[in-house]
Amino acid sequence: MTISHWSAGAPYAGSSTQTADVTNPATGQVSGQVALASREDADHVIAAAKAAAPGWAATSLARRTQVMFAFRELLNSRKGELAELITAEHGKVHSDALGEIARGQEVVEFACGISHLLKGGHSPSASTGVDVHSTRQPLGVVGIISPFNFPAMVPMWFFPVAIAAGNTVVLKPSEKDPSASLWLAELWKEAGLPDGVFNVLQGDKVAVDALLESPDVASISFVGSTPIAEYVYERASRNGKRVQALGGAKNHMVVLPDADLDLAADAAVNAGYGSAGERCMAISVLVAVEPVADELVARIADRTRTLVIGDGAKGVQQESDMGPLVTRAHRDKVASYVEAGQAAGAKLVIDGREVQAAGAADGFWLGPTLFDHVTPDMDIYTDEIFGPVLSVVRVASYDEAVALVNSNQYGNGTAIFTNDGGAARRYENEVEVGMIGVNVPIPVPVAYYSFGGWKRSLFGDTHAHGSEGVHFFTRGKVVTTRWIDPANRPTGGLELGFPQND
Ligand code: NAD
Repeated sequence: MTISHWSAGAPYAGSSTQTADVTNPATGQVSGQVALASREDADHVIAAAKAAAPGWAATSLARRTQVMFAFRELLNSRKGELAELITAEHGKVHSDALGEIARGQEVVEFACGISHLLKGGHSPSASTGVDVHSTRQPLGVVGIISPFNFPAMVPMWFFPVAIAAGNTVVLKPSEKDPSASLWLAELWKEAGLPDGVFNVLQGDKVAVDALLESPDVASISFVGSTPIAEYVYERASRNGKRVQALGGAKNHMVVLPDADLDLAADAAVNAGYGSAGERCMAISVLVAVEPVADELVARIADRTRTLVIGDGAKGVQQESDMGPLVTRAHRDKVASYVEAGQAAGAKLVIDGREVQAAGAADGFWLGPTLFDHVTPDMDIYTDEIFGPVLSVVRVASYDEAVALVNSNQYGNGTAIFTNDGGAARRYENEVEVGMIGVNVPIPVPVAYYSFGGWKRSLFGDTHAHGSEGVHFFTRGKVVTTRWIDPANRPTGGLELGFPQND
């Protein structure tokens, strides 16, 4: 099966003969080939988006939002199909795939009400006989480049807002799980979106570079690893584009001695191992403020040993809490970190390499791994592993915990577990991280707030969705107007001084 591009409302094969294998991580079997665009293919898809842009921008807000509502209804009624596609190419269990769709759907619902956020201001008689009003207009063609770990939700952080605001979209999905994007394209067509408003460009660096360089693409919304986010930010901004580039993470969960340890242990397991740790908001470092560490590690280990690792497909999933990793290469890379952690002297409490998975022998299995006595100089602490590896760092005080979190290069998400409101309030104020949970381990903001990290977790200054998303996908104009009426006739005449309001 070949997974093609989508251009002007139909599948588009492109002229490139380059393809990449797409695999089912639970079986290790190749399930299809995804097209890898050439520069010419990219230009073709961008041209389709450009051709549709004036018509869509001129379509009334009422009609645009009607299409959004239709898309929301279709997505809600058919999300099970999309979840199956996600599990088959990403590996996350079916219920988790449904969870990612639900969070993406929230953004669609937010965008259904975009009219309120596209209203401008109006100031009658800002100066004598002069009125001032503001409007926001779409950018034109916007590019979205997404990672493998949320093939539906991450594109949906952006495209509902972009489309509702009157832009046309070229989505470049991850080549590891490209099918969700085509399913979404077909759904848009069924919802009545005009051809060319939503397009999909499959591919790798060639496709990305084409978007970063095309003079017809006005903005780039990127999500992926930090080195690529930085590259995308620099290259696209140099080409005059508006850019938001969300990067990697190393999210710390601080547990204070007064915390509810059962709640904290459940949260650490869920947020550390859900989706096999392949979430940008996963907890990968647990900062235990002494004297809680011994008891907390014991409770986490007990819970972790009960997890079932296996095929996450619908029908089999009731057996499985956690699926495989996305590719064999990624599985092996994560496993190499387990070796590195051991060699560096961390205490390996649970070794995921010994997992007995309920699935095919060739699946990309790696079980939950728990390290204790991790120190900040170790690679398992400094690097984003992006797998089911949880590192416990022991510290003596709250101040030491905050200093550790703030010295990290990333600032995506963090959580504090405590029953002390004053300590939580202090943490919220002092920590240099974009998204904070208080007794909530994965604090992904609701759609009407904005999602984004600090430091090397985000390049650019605008976060995703919420009012920041609307701002990103629109440009402001301010109009100053004077209408002549008989009662208020300007005197005219020459006056070369700078105009002043009166
Ligand atoms: P990745 O950086 O490898 O790929 C992301 C996108 O960039 C893909 O579409 C890919 O095709 C493209 N790409 C890869 N290499 C490229 C290159 N050399 N030049 C141009 N384009 C290139 O990321 P991934 O492995 O797909 O996803 C996991 C990463 O994404 C993790 O680091 C994770 O933290 C991050 N992530 C961050 C957030 C966030 O909100 N901050 C959300 C999800 C994922």
